[in-house]
Amino acid sequence: MKLAKTYPYPSSAAIHSQMRYISKNIFLNTIFCPALGWRLKNEKIHEELSPGTLFRMEQGKEIGKLARELHPDGIPISEPDSVSSARVTQEYLRNPKKRVLFEGTFLADNYVAKADIILQHGKGWDLIEVKSSVKQSQEHIDDMAYTTLVALKSGFRPSKIFLQILDKNYRLGQPLKNLFTMVDCTTDVSERADEFSRVFGEVNRIASLPDEPEVRLTLNCKQCEYFERCAGEEIKEHIFHVPRLSQKNTESLIAKGIVSIHDIPPNFPLTELQKQMVECIKCGTVSVDGALREKLEEIRWPAYYLDFETTMTAIPLFADLAPYDKFPTQYSIHICDRCGHILEHRDYLADPSHDCRRELTERLINDLSGKGSIISYSSFEKTVITGLCVTFPDLEEELKGLLERLVDLEKCVKCVQHPQFRGRTSIKIVLPALVPDLSYDGYEIADGDTAMVTYALMAKGMMDAEEMEQKRIALLRYCMLDTHAMVRLHEKLFELVNDQC
Ligand code: SF4
Repeated sequence: MKLAKTYPYPSSAAIHSQMRYISKNIFLNTIFCPALGWRLKNEKIHEELSPGTLFRMEQGKEIGKLARELHPDGIPISEPDSVSSARVTQEYLRNPKKRVLFEGTFLADNYVAKADIILQHGKGWDLIEVKSSVKQSQEHIDDMAYTTLVALKSGFRPSKIFLQILDKNYRLGQPLKNLFTMVDCTTDVSERADEFSRVFGEVNRIASLPDEPEVRLTLNCKQCEYFERCAGEEIKEHIFHVPRLSQKNTESLIAKGIVSIHDIPPNFPLTELQKQMVECIKCGTVSVDGALREKLEEIRWPAYYLDFETTMTAIPLFADLAPYDKFPTQYSIHICDRCGHILEHRDYLADPSHDCRRELTERLINDLSGKGSIISYSSFEKTVITGLCVTFPDLEEELKGLLERLVDLEKCVKCVQHPQFRGRTSIKIVLPALVPDLSYDGYEIADGDTAMVTYALMAKGMMDAEEMEQKRIALLRYCMLDTHAMVRLHEKLFELVNDQC
């Protein structure tokens, strides 16, 4: 049975309270990887959660709370242990006067499951899973299938199974019921629950083993966030780093016991790009495609190196935004009159107390006025400016003028093969390889996800004035480093081209 990815782990407190039982996370992770499921069940995983993960968990709780507000007569099942919760749930389910239960609990064999909402429907009951997403996913079906399976095994058969997700049509200020939409997933969930029932006993057996099952490298390891600290720990230059290596080829290499790029046989079927990357790693040399010179010569001076940070939240922060609409909150611009020669730095950070999209857009147009190239890294800046054209149609002409001047520096970097790139070209990978003296280390905010969450927390009023000022400085420093890194990368690319002459 296949699962696409590892499942988010519950907090250690949640694990502790369910310690004697197999929870949904343990079940799903055991199917994904027996060793991972066993470690979870036996509390061998102590993970520090990133600010982004913590924020998403908080948003999930906020959405769960709002979903409950739609059922003021709902009864929360909040007994101190799973056995009591399951007993109380059964009592309520037998009492026709009680219409809605929150966190109704089911126990079967060694398993525990909780349903977000159990809603009386005619003579039966519907199970409802609340998710802070705008789209249904296979993960949601798996979540509901697990709950349904445990409920069935405990003797409870739901009439229908619904997914309650966020409605993209919701706008701030509308009635709460408009925030949600219901998707009937009964058929998909029932089929998946059938599949799960075939491994019910086996997962229980694995989770109850006295010792950890053997760690075996599989395709799943590629998606596993523990890879570098588990199956991939001692392998230098792993085959998973070969770009777009097909499932068939990956499995064929694993079956032959080949896990390092250095051991891929010369006659192994690879695409031209894959061969170049493999050769680059095996030889440890940097190679530059002749097309790089041409691409760099397209850049017009003075060049404007541009980077945006954006944010998005489940409950929109401002009017006209839908749940999870992404919008720009800040930018940094370095202006150079020749490669590596900085003339000026400009930046903008929106005041989180109100909607500054218009102000940001007008400032951006002004700060980028001129004829030189606007250099971005990836297509993200293009997407953001295109989105602003839709938000502010009266500024479309000026914004389209900016789009015409955009040059993607990442496309230039793709002309370089470097053993440290490992087939990737994100700025966080490329920078230490090409410009080792410039680093994100030591920065309070050092990635886009943290920047996004920081702004959202500021806008939600979750910081005092002192912390706000500290974070404001950290956000400005981070965004400035992004464009400074682009200036230095450009300079390095220029050197690489000239070294070839
Ligand atoms: S790296 Fe592989 S073996 Fe290790 S926990 Fe992840 S999926 Fe399991």
